[in-house]
Amino acid sequence: MTGFRAPPPLVTRSIEHHSFPSMNDISRHIDPGLIDRFAAIVGDKYALRDQQDIAPYLTERRGLWHGRTALVLRPGSVDEVSRIMQLATETGTPVVPQSGNTGLVGAQVPDTSGRQIVLSLSRLNRIREVDVLSNTATVEAGVILQTLQEAADAADRLFPLSLAAQGSCQIGGNLSSNAGGTGVLAYGNARELCLGVEVVLPTGEVFDDLRKLKKDNTGYDLKNLFIGAEGTLGVITAAVLKLFPKPKGREVAFAGLSSPEAALSLLSLAMDHAGAALTAFELIGQRPYDFTLLHAPGVVRPLSGDWPWYVLMQISSGRSAQDARTLIEEVLSAGLEQEIVGDAVIAASIAQGDAFWNFRELLPEAQKPEGASIKHDISVPVAAIPRFIEKAAGAVQSVSPGAREVCFGHMGDGNLHYNISRPIGGDDEAFLGLYHAMNKAVHDVVRSLHGSISAEHGIGQLKRDELIATAPPMAIELMRRVKTAFDPAGIMNPGKVI
Ligand SMILES: Cc1cc2nc3c(=O)[nH]c(=O)nc-3n(C[C@H](O)[C@H](O)[C@H](O)COP(=O)(O)OP(=O)(O)OC[C@H]3O[C@@H](n4cnc5c(N)ncnc54)[C@H](O)[C@@H]3O)c2cc1C
Repeated sequence: MTGFRAPPPLVTRSIEHHSFPSMNDISRHIDPGLIDRFAAIVGDKYALRDQQDIAPYLTERRGLWHGRTALVLRPGSVDEVSRIMQLATETGTPVVPQSGNTGLVGAQVPDTSGRQIVLSLSRLNRIREVDVLSNTATVEAGVILQTLQEAADAADRLFPLSLAAQGSCQIGGNLSSNAGGTGVLAYGNARELCLGVEVVLPTGEVFDDLRKLKKDNTGYDLKNLFIGAEGTLGVITAAVLKLFPKPKGREVAFAGLSSPEAALSLLSLAMDHAGAALTAFELIGQRPYDFTLLHAPGVVRPLSGDWPWYVLMQISSGRSAQDARTLIEEVLSAGLEQEIVGDAVIAASIAQGDAFWNFRELLPEAQKPEGASIKHDISVPVAAIPRFIEKAAGAVQSVSPGAREVCFGHMGDGNLHYNISRPIGGDDEAFLGLYHAMNKAVHDVVRSLHGSISAEHGIGQLKRDELIATAPPMAIELMRRVKTAFDPAGIMNPGKVI
């Protein structure tokens, strides 16, 4: 049994991934003549109707959601996207935008009605321009994140958005989910990295806001409505993104600590010493650390001793490699002297630094062999992290005595992946039956600390009901008004977010 299992109510809404419904079955829900009209826009080659071809677009990586559709469209130009949306509005056809399909909240998957069509942006994959003087890249929505990182690198620049799915997620999806990842502490999330967007509205009109301006106070900031909207307001077709000078030195360290309070003190110390040069500060609990040593093939133990908590810290210097080295040594020496840090090791080479990061990236996978798990992607004010960890542990035990907290995440951003594995020897199904009770218990603690129940993965289908039930009613009302203003016919990714 793996840890990624559908929470109970979603199982009842899903269909089996391997059963391909017949074309007749699906097209009962969408007029075949209409399918032909959509297909004519992109050409037959790029209008997928065969259920075997369509299957990869209907389920997501963790297998929690399975949808149905009669048609996946793969447009090759902004004009084609515009004509698709025009026809969708004219005929009231719901459209689900999809990029790399790595989202974790079911936002990119169609529902099971068979009425929704999938719009894949992956053929819009040109890097239109890298402007090294303005420090910007203008890229299309289907550019893979890693491809952009490499193009920036080739121009002696850095595009700092970085996440484990970077080999397959795409810029349109990154912006639409306002992705975070490991570079947020120094550079911000996707929203903060975006200067301008080009969007096709549900009506088919093109909103060209591809500007490179850092300063622009001309009215409402419209681009930010589309960023993080999870495809519910329009289709992002291109964006202007910020580039940065490439650091001249990078140092990565692993530290062992006695408590989350000590980790907080180390974070404060590192910020005092390194300022903006502190580019990552990841907290790792002993349990995910041990799971990774146990289950991830080929990983090397970063520290010789065992500690209740670990920190992976990165310092990058724009001045020199030596500067980065000096800074990280200063931080760790002060931490050891003040007895904040129990033990620490600085990577001796680029390869060892990469190995430390690899260890960090493997934490989620390493939890799987431990059985069913219930996951949370939360944020609280950074200073409240120790309190969250203490209070949430109590809440978890009250729901399922013996359940195992698997806590790690981007501590510098106040964002933890707070996952709960079933008790040792426990039953997976019985544990997943506690899904909602566990979510509520953990999220109540988050709310008591004025935090967020979705720090970086979004709302999608997974947290829609909870968002509506628990967000301030005025916030939901304003979101509905925005949605209606942009998408009065309700055809943009219906059933997601609100
Ligand atoms: C192993 C792994 C690690 C991950 N780590 C992180 C992490 O550290 N931080 C993080 O934030 N996320 C993380 N994620 C989640 C995911 O990778 C991100 O949310 C990513 O930004 C999604 O991009 P995508 O191209 O796959 O988008 P998709 O999954 O295809 O779509 C995501 C959402 O965007 C919408 N959308 C897609 N393209 C467009 C478009 N062009 N216009 C309008 N709407 C669009 C979709 O409808 C959907 O709502 C991880 C996922 C995996 C599998």
